[in-house]
Amino acid sequence: MLTNVPKGTKDIMPEQVYKWHYIENKWKEFCEKYGFREIRTPMFEHTELFQRGIGDTTDVVQKEMYTFNDYANRSITLKPEGTSPAVRAFIEHKLYAEVQPIKLYYDIPCFRYEKPQSGRLRQFHQFGIETFGTPNMMADAEIIAMGYDFLKSLGVSDLALEINSVGCPTCRANHRKALKEFLAPKYEQLCETCKSRYDKNPMRILDCKSPADQELVKGAPMMLDYLCNDCKESFEELKANLDAMEIPYTINPKIVRGLDYYTKTAFEFVTNSLGAQGTVCGGGRYDNLVEEVGGPPIPGVGFGMGKERLLMLMEANGVVIPEPACCDIFIAVMGEKAKLYGQKLQRELRQKGLKVQMDNLQRNIKGQFKYADRLNAKYTIVIGENELVEGTVTLKDMTKSEQRTVKFEDLYEEITK
Ligand code: ATP
Ligand code: MG
Repeated sequence: MLTNVPKGTKDIMPEQVYKWHYIENKWKEFCEKYGFREIRTPMFEHTELFQRGIGDTTDVVQKEMYTFNDYANRSITLKPEGTSPAVRAFIEHKLYAEVQPIKLYYDIPCFRYEKPQSGRLRQFHQFGIETFGTPNMMADAEIIAMGYDFLKSLGVSDLALEINSVGCPTCRANHRKALKEFLAPKYEQLCETCKSRYDKNPMRILDCKSPADQELVKGAPMMLDYLCNDCKESFEELKANLDAMEIPYTINPKIVRGLDYYTKTAFEFVTNSLGAQGTVCGGGRYDNLVEEVGGPPIPGVGFGMGKERLLMLMEANGVVIPEPACCDIFIAVMGEKAKLYGQKLQRELRQKGLKVQMDNLQRNIKGQFKYADRLNAKYTIVIGENELVEGTVTLKDMTKSEQRTVKFEDLYEEITK
């Protein structure tokens, strides 16, 4: 127990972390290319933010939040998603008073008390972006395009974009009525959670994970058939924008998304390579969320992308992430004087930007070479009495098994040329 991570969490070990760095650096590069700026919000927020933001009939709020009271008896929740905190910060820092749109990105851990399985963790990690301040579908298309281009740049192939419209409160009222009529005769068979959703938020029932309920909602009225003129027009515009950018998509009228705040655009990037956890990225528009949380009526649109699922998909698609060298040069030494000189040289080369290592366990020369091998050093040198007198060393290129004599002061240039 003491030496095991809590269920649903994982250590990311040094042997793996370069893969995370790789996608994180790419993410940052893409967001900045598309004009988004990073925001960092706290790991936890007031519980009410998520109850209001995500919606209290959602699975996330009803059964998945890590909520506790702090010592001052405030209810605190570890963030289960990134949009609500971004919205809170947008309001708190009055970003609505600045030139719109406001384009933000983040890279965060999220916490949800779910049943752990492949691609489903209790602490997972998300890339996310949000555009605030424009109702124009150009913004929806822009973030979809960014997600698409980002995923393509990482070399994933087995991936499809599905889009839908979940309408607005006006058209949703009609759909809700039709949906309730459809579900009325099946009410008794619904799971307990969905029974409670029937009156409060019947659309949530479409998103229920229980297979029995999934069976019951087959043939239910779809939101897409109930869109008001404004929502219909927006959906047409979205498609026109995606077509113009030649981004392939299919329409999936079943996408409802797990969070309540979505309006109009809803989309997912899905794959067949990850079994049941096939959604790598999900997002959409939330035109009423900022107001709902206590700000002015400002629209927004964004997405969240699961980093664990992304890495799993890359692996399933055979993408090889280049592993950076961890040691440019290894300095082996013989004798006390050489050791001190080696220390000085190591520091100088590091200051110039090279990755340099030495043995600090007093291994003999054979042991030092073995260690250099373990470190996968690109070059090695040996400093002994002679080298100190002559001011030169033999520089061994370990990848080519070549060697040449180099002056101490020329080492950096020889290695970097
Ligand atoms: P799912 O339907 O798979 O539960 P979701 O709709 O709950 O996903 P979002 O809230 O939209 O997911 O989060 C965005 C992305 O974060 C998902 O597409 C997925 O890649 C990832 N994600 C969500 N929950 C988890 C989890 N528990 N473990 C790992 N990744 C997750
Ligand atoms: Mg979920």
